[in-house]
Amino acid sequence: MALFKKKKYIRINPNRKELPTNAPSIPDNMWAKCPNCKQIIYTKDIGDEKVCPHCDYNFRIGAWQRLALIIDEKSLEEWDTDLVTKDPLNFPDYQEKIQTMQEKTGLHEAVLTGKATIHGLSFAVGVMDANFIMGSMGTVVGEKITRLFERAKKLKLPVVLFTASGGARMQEGIFSLMQMAKISAAVKRHSNAGLFYLTIVTDPTTGGVTASFAMEGDVILAEPQSLIGFAGRRVIEQTIKQELPEDFQKAEFLLAHGFVDQIVPRKKLKETIHQLLKIHTQKGWINHG
Ligand SMILES: [Zn+2]
Repeated sequence: MALFKKKKYIRINPNRKELPTNAPSIPDNMWAKCPNCKQIIYTKDIGDEKVCPHCDYNFRIGAWQRLALIIDEKSLEEWDTDLVTKDPLNFPDYQEKIQTMQEKTGLHEAVLTGKATIHGLSFAVGVMDANFIMGSMGTVVGEKITRLFERAKKLKLPVVLFTASGGARMQEGIFSLMQMAKISAAVKRHSNAGLFYLTIVTDPTTGGVTASFAMEGDVILAEPQSLIGFAGRRVIEQTIKQELPEDFQKAEFLLAHGFVDQIVPRKKLKETIHQLLKIHTQKGWINHG
């Protein structure tokens, strides 16, 4: 008599998996659990900024979402999307992985670069995306960021770069590591031309990115509670044979120790960036460096 059998409960998305606390993201469901305060939130309350209404936790967001919050609508002119990711080590399934990621994220690679405006003010912008193979730095990511600084220098534009990375891209081995020096040299040339470079460190920024251009900004901002570090916590603890403080490698710890200039909540980022760009790109501003 299955026809008349009534279901006892309404089933809500039985396939939904619990969010792992170390990989927070925005689920498509109506309800989400905050990985920080563990409260259940109605996803509409997270808003466009994707911030927990209870504890102000900043959910991780992708590059396109990030841009939508910062730049003037339709002001983006994207650069260097014709660069093709090579497979120098013939790493198994690497090419397929790149293709899948491109389809999934709508991004060309783990960084998006270009020119945009913020309240009418022009600047060069780069946004790394941790959803694209952990925002790892391969040759195309390295080349795109290098060209971002080179083109910004030519156009006399400031650079605003949002970092998010799991580190080097293992599928590209040593070629990945070589990007750090290449980008740092381009950052230096941009700086020598008297141009402003603003870094916004977002969750998570680790590995070679932290060891190079993430920490080379004239001003370094961070989002609250972002994980920022070089090696992982366990690796350090095992090496120095000591327990690390609870908030070690969090933005707040780095601010207290002088690595970060200011922690800015996501809702205030746009205005803060605009303010900094305005100060540093005013006509008549003289470079004494
Ligand atoms: Zn929360």
